[in-house]
Amino acid sequence: MAGTSTALPFALPASQSDILRRRAGILTRLLLLDEGFAQVPVRSMRQDTLDALLRLYDKAFLSGYLSRTYAELKITLSSRMTSAAGKFIYSRDAAKRLSGAEIRMSSDFLFRLKEGPFDLNGLTVSTAQEAFLVVFEHELCHAIETALFGSSGHSKRFLSIAFSLFGHTQIHHALPTVRSEAAQKGVFPGAKVSFLYQGKRLSGVVSSVGKTAAVMVPSLMGAYRGRFCRRYDKYRVPIDHLTIEKGL
Ligand SMILES: [Zn+2]
Repeated sequence: MAGTSTALPFALPASQSDILRRRAGILTRLLLLDEGFAQVPVRSMRQDTLDALLRLYDKAFLSGYLSRTYAELKITLSSRMTSAAGKFIYSRDAAKRLSGAEIRMSSDFLFRLKEGPFDLNGLTVSTAQEAFLVVFEHELCHAIETALFGSSGHSKRFLSIAFSLFGHTQIHHALPTVRSEAAQKGVFPGAKVSFLYQGKRLSGVVSSVGKTAAVMVPSLMGAYRGRFCRRYDKYRVPIDHLTIEKGL
């Protein structure tokens, strides 16, 4: 890592094959620990497996740097996170020390992964479980950069850390999030759609996409007011229940 290597409190892997070997070692341990995590597609992941994931990475790649630096670094699996596969969140206490740090991983994303290969962060991996680790590694780099330098983003410095530690060459990934899957089916904000509601077919426009799509349907007594004083009702509809309307 140009300019920073002398200051690092842990030894960097010697080569790409060294990285692969360490990652594979961690993956093997996790698969043995948790039957739900070992299934294809992944069915579940226990909290103690997540804790083991963090501990094993800290030991295998960081010589325990994270446990020495963060009073508490949590790792959680969130079913509500649908726009990102992972996230690093932290706050500082009154003395400006790092506190309340958390790596939050999306279970929606994990359970959605089916057949590989998956391209992410410049790597190609073959299984959902390995993809999950590589996403986790990206968030881990945010935690490391924050601990080392006080802040983190997607700068050259970040890429240098992510490459040196994990062989990542990019920060973007092309994995199926609920939004990209919905977009492929033609469901995105502004799309005209229809759906069955209590036996009637309603037509409207998609206003947002998360786990379900929010659809604004014109209605005389609607609770929402739009342009030209038109009124709308908002419906939350599962993506699969929507029909794309063309030429409305
Ligand atoms: Zn990032």
